[in-house]
Amino acid sequence: MNLGVGNIPVGGRELVLSGADEWVRRAASQAAGGPVSRVEGTLRVEDQDSRRADVTGTVKVSAKLDCDRCGEPTEVDVSADVELTYAPAASLSSDSLIADEEVELARADLDVGWYEGTSLNMESVLCEAISLAWPSRVVCSDTTSCEGRVEALLEPGKAATSPFSALRGFTDA
Ligand SMILES: [Zn+2]
Repeated sequence: MNLGVGNIPVGGRELVLSGADEWVRRAASQAAGGPVSRVEGTLRVEDQDSRRADVTGTVKVSAKLDCDRCGEPTEVDVSADVELTYAPAASLSSDSLIADEEVELARADLDVGWYEGTSLNMESVLCEAISLAWPSRVVCSDTTSCEGRVEALLEPGKAATSPFSALRGFTDA
């Protein structure tokens, strides 16, 4: 899904995101680190002087992932407020100082990304937007039962099949 930065209409272009679209699901799954059960939202892409593109909106993503503490699957719900601005990659090196200053100004309130050529790859944009809001660590929402499971895992000898039981049988023989 590519959006030509020079072809964005005045007032912006609105994209309604649906999990039925393969590129939307692909971007969300990549950001979530696993298959997503829901992805929806709206992104508005606005052209700033045919060079810079601002992307704003909200994206809601749900995924069932394994808890990083106890290992049980848990539902992760993220609502991401998107505020990104994209500048042409060329302005990094060869462009005028004015363009750099513009990007510098935008940096204050928006996250800045770069695009190659003349169009925005919306799949990368969406993936980045979700990644920024995604928790670095997945933990069960029910912390009490999560802690109970972690304690059970750490408690030695409580498990029915301890890794040492086989060894014990071997030395007795
Ligand atoms: Zn857990």
